[in-house]
Amino acid sequence: MKTILDQLTINKNRLSQNIEQLAEIGKIGETGVCRPTLSTVEKKAFELVSKWMEDAGMTTRLDNCGNLFGRIEGKDPDAPVLMIGSHLDSQPNGGRFDGTAGVLSGIEAVATMTEKGIVPDRPIEVVSFCDEEGWRFNKGLFGSRGIIGKLDEGELGRVDKDGVTREQALREFGCNPDKLSDSVYPPGSIHSFLELHIEQGPLLEKVDQPVGIVTGIAGPLWLTVKVKGFAGHAGTVPMYMRQDALVGASEMILSFNELVKRDSAATTVGTVGALNVSPASRNVIPEEVEFTIDLRDIDLDRRNMCEYDLRENFKQIAEKHNVTVEIIEDQNSEPSFCAGWIKDIIRSECQHLGLDAPNLMSGAFHDSLMLSNVCDYGMIFVRCKEGISHNPAEFASNEDLAIGADVLYRTVLKMMK
Ligand SMILES: [Zn+2]
Repeated sequence: MKTILDQLTINKNRLSQNIEQLAEIGKIGETGVCRPTLSTVEKKAFELVSKWMEDAGMTTRLDNCGNLFGRIEGKDPDAPVLMIGSHLDSQPNGGRFDGTAGVLSGIEAVATMTEKGIVPDRPIEVVSFCDEEGWRFNKGLFGSRGIIGKLDEGELGRVDKDGVTREQALREFGCNPDKLSDSVYPPGSIHSFLELHIEQGPLLEKVDQPVGIVTGIAGPLWLTVKVKGFAGHAGTVPMYMRQDALVGASEMILSFNELVKRDSAATTVGTVGALNVSPASRNVIPEEVEFTIDLRDIDLDRRNMCEYDLRENFKQIAEKHNVTVEIIEDQNSEPSFCAGWIKDIIRSECQHLGLDAPNLMSGAFHDSLMLSNVCDYGMIFVRCKEGISHNPAEFASNEDLAIGADVLYRTVLKMMK
């Protein structure tokens, strides 16, 4: 009996070898990866991936936002481009598949077309977007926001933990940050966008399916909360006189957690992932605390309601502890839904391979979320072991990745029609 793997058109060995080889760049421990955006490590990854793009028949370029593109011309070179992509930067202690699976599957799809002598109707570009992860400069999706003209004021002045600005990092990487606007795609020049990504959640494993069809992406709201009190000697200031910023912040964090959980059936999720205490001395009452909030929901009204309530709660808690609170918005993306016609193609191509791919919502955001502002988009998820991601234990099997890449390849062919 023929298995799904026997029916694949893409080269499954080439794909798994490329994934393995790329994982060596920035490797930490046995299976982890640390590939910061705009670093010498990412540069090395770009060089290797550029070579694979060229082997697949593409011409390559680095734009001023730090995005790497590979392009093959279509029968109509002036037609709006079909873009396939993801990212090659990783979390500081990340895994081998997050982002890389999408870029390498895109290259594999084009390589397969080139080998078969298929000239696409329109140009195809495979892209690795700059700084999807957002940890180095505390703001993500830089490259995908860059090409649609959605960069904010002061974006280049953001610094990493070593005091390097985004502007310096871009220059050192070989980009010209004075000419970011040269990298913006004119309206209508991107036909559609397709991204394959590991699921980063446990649902495909639960239903025992290698791939899933993404229905939409829950938009994240990123806030920084600054709580200010008054420093004092931990041994001498009586409790009733204190303005302890950390006690105030702690109550805010707990109230936020309760707020997010209030409707157990809802898709709302909220996280405080970073916290800074100042002056951070064991015998000084904390004067200032800064913490981050990540709030997501596919239902924008519900997310907005949650934001409203958290702002009210924080104000009251600040009063109670005699501290002040300031809330800064770092990122605010609305949820977005995948195009129906692309989902239909993915579904029917899965059926051709004998797969019963389920529909899935993405709780994680991806570069697709930005592209959804300018064109139709679709996403394919690949099963990820125990849903673990942003962790060296992240794992997707060669077989599942090959099936995902084949679905991507077939989808691209149909999207041309
Ligand atoms: Zn990713």
